[in-house]
Amino acid sequence: MTTIHFTRRRILSGAALGLVAGATGRLAAPAIAQARAPYTLPALPYSDTGLDPVISARTISFHYGIHHKAYLDNLNKLVENDPLGEMSLEQLIRSVAVNPNRVAHFNNAGQVFNHNFYWASLRPNGGGAPTGALLAQIEKDLGGLEKFKADFAATANGVFGSGWGWLVWNPRDKKLGLSRTSNADTPIVRGDVPLLTIDVWEHAYYLDYQNRRAAYTAAVIDKLINWDWAAQQFDKALKAG
Ligand code: MN
Repeated sequence: MTTIHFTRRRILSGAALGLVAGATGRLAAPAIAQARAPYTLPALPYSDTGLDPVISARTISFHYGIHHKAYLDNLNKLVENDPLGEMSLEQLIRSVAVNPNRVAHFNNAGQVFNHNFYWASLRPNGGGAPTGALLAQIEKDLGGLEKFKADFAATANGVFGSGWGWLVWNPRDKKLGLSRTSNADTPIVRGDVPLLTIDVWEHAYYLDYQNRRAAYTAAVIDKLINWDWAAQQFDKALKAG
C-alpha cells in the first residue's frame, strides 16, 4: 500500500489546502493510508469552500482544522515511543479495539480513520449516481439507488447521539450493507470494508444546520457523495477477495 505523507498545516486557507486534480481534471483520490506514526492529516482534496453551501468553509475550519486535527495530535502523543506506533493506522485500530486498557488509543485512532474516510467520501459537485459494478451491486443488495439513498439517510439519522452512518462491503457474505457506529467505532473492527461514510456528530452540521441532522444528511447524499471514491474502495475490496 502506497503511503503519502502530506505536510501538516496548522492554519486553514483555500490556497493552503490546495486542490488535487489529475490531468483529466477529475479529483485525484486522497491518500488516507497511514503506515506508521507519526500519523498525518491528509490534505483535503478540495478547497475549504469546495463543499459550500452544503458544508460551509466555517464548518470545515472547525471540523477538519480543529476536531480532526485534535484526534490526530492526541493519537500521536499516545503512541510516542510505543510499539503501537509502528503499526499502520488500521492495524492499530484493530489491535486496540478489544483492549480495555487502550480506550483512548481506540477513540482517537478510530476518529482519525473515520474522519480521513469522511473527507474522502465527499467531493464538490458530488451526488448523482454510481456506475458499473457498484451500481449493479446496489441494485442487487440494497433495492436500487433511490432506496439506498433513503435507507442511507435513515441509517445515519438514526444514530443515537454521536456517530457515523456507513455503506459497507461485507466480504464474508459478499454483500453490501448499511450500518451505524457510535462515537469512534468503525466498521473495520468487524471486518467490513467501508465504501462511504457520513459523520453525524453534531460538530459536522451544527454551524450550518443547527439541530436539523436530516437536512444535512439529505444534502450530503444528494450533492456531495463521491461515488468515484466508493467505486475505488469496492474495486479494491473485490480484488482483495
Ligand atoms: Mn467529526
